[in-house]
Order: sequence, then structure tokens, then C-alpha cells
Amino acid sequence: MAAVVIKELCIGCGVCSQMCPMQAISVRVKTAHVDTGRCNDCEECVFACPNGAITL
Ligand code: SF4
Ligand code: SF4
Repeated sequence: MAAVVIKELCIGCGVCSQMCPMQAISVRVKTAHVDTGRCNDCEECVFACPNGAITL
């Protein structure tokens, strides 16, 4: 598994990218993208997102 971004809810704020301990999230064109090969399922991004835009 890996974190999944719900594109319709993501505003591209970058908070998840800052919180991710694996540097697995990048923000491109105002939407977060998860590098599934790096994600370790820690859920930090899920708790950090102000819009509820990431799930596992
Ligand atoms: S914290 Fe949430 S809204 Fe902000 S870039 Fe990440 S997924 Fe998108
Ligand atoms: S679950 Fe953890 S490792 Fe995976 S993208 Fe979110 S913060 Fe990064």
C-alpha cells in the first residue's frame, strides 16, 4: 500500500510534502503526488493534510 491523494480535495498547499519523513511527496501543478516506492505507510501525511485529501 501507499498513500493516495484525492485530487479533487487537494489544494497543493505542500504541508504533506513537508511532513513526509521519506520525501515521498512532491507537489506539481498544485496537486500532491506520492512516490509509491518511497512511501512507508506512516500516515503522517494523512494526519497533516488540512483538507483530508490523503488516504491509505
Ligand atoms: S497537505 Fe493535503 S491539500 Fe496540501 S498538498 Fe498535501 S494532499 Fe494537498
Ligand atoms: S504515509 Fe508517510 S511515507 Fe507515505 S507519503 Fe505519507 S508521510 Fe510519506
